Amino acid sequence: MPARPDALLLDYDGTVITFDRRAAFAHARPDADEATLDRLARLDRERSLAGDYDRAALLGDDACERRFWDGIVEHTRPMAGAIALLEHCRNASIPVALVTDTDGDGRDKHARIAASGLADCFDAIVIAGETVPERKPSPAPFLHALDRLGARATHSVMVGDKVDADARPAAALGMRAIWLRGAYPGDWTPAVNTLDEVVAHL
Ligand SMILES: [Mg+2]
Repeated sequence: MPARPDALLLDYDGTVITFDRRAAFAHARPDADEATLDRLARLDRERSLAGDYDRAALLGDDACERRFWDGIVEHTRPMAGAIALLEHCRNASIPVALVTDTDGDGRDKHARIAASGLADCFDAIVIAGETVPERKPSPAPFLHALDRLGARATHSVMVGDKVDADARPAAALGMRAIWLRGAYPGDWTPAVNTLDEVVAHL
């Protein structure tokens, strides 16, 4: 087992938490039929994967988009093994930081994290695009999180569900980077299937 790390950095969406995208669309568009909800959820996933896009245009208007985000909050739950990993870190005195991208203009990601009930589990919360101007995969949010925790990159671990946005930029800084297999395609070693498997890497 490696030496205890200075810090653990975690991505948020798809890593610490997940949400039911289709249920959020049902919340946003209570008038929509099942086929429409399926289509909206599929398009949203595809366009989110490709980068930023205009969700309000997909949904019809800004009020729909606000209801979508309310729906996301309502249908958020911790990922499998997340609570076990966070409890392990607390018991082992390993500081934990979130390194997550902004939800975009006008969105309050801090509020979304607070609504999950998990905010107190983190010693630092870095919202890339807000806390620092640059989004992942820029090294800036990772370096900011390490700095906040007084942690050395070469003695810290990053876990996320996107190879390009999480694992690769962290590894480029000298961190041990672990890929959480999930919704996104990728190829990275080491990889885990659930977050509790990360404990063996700490
Ligand atoms: Mg993610």
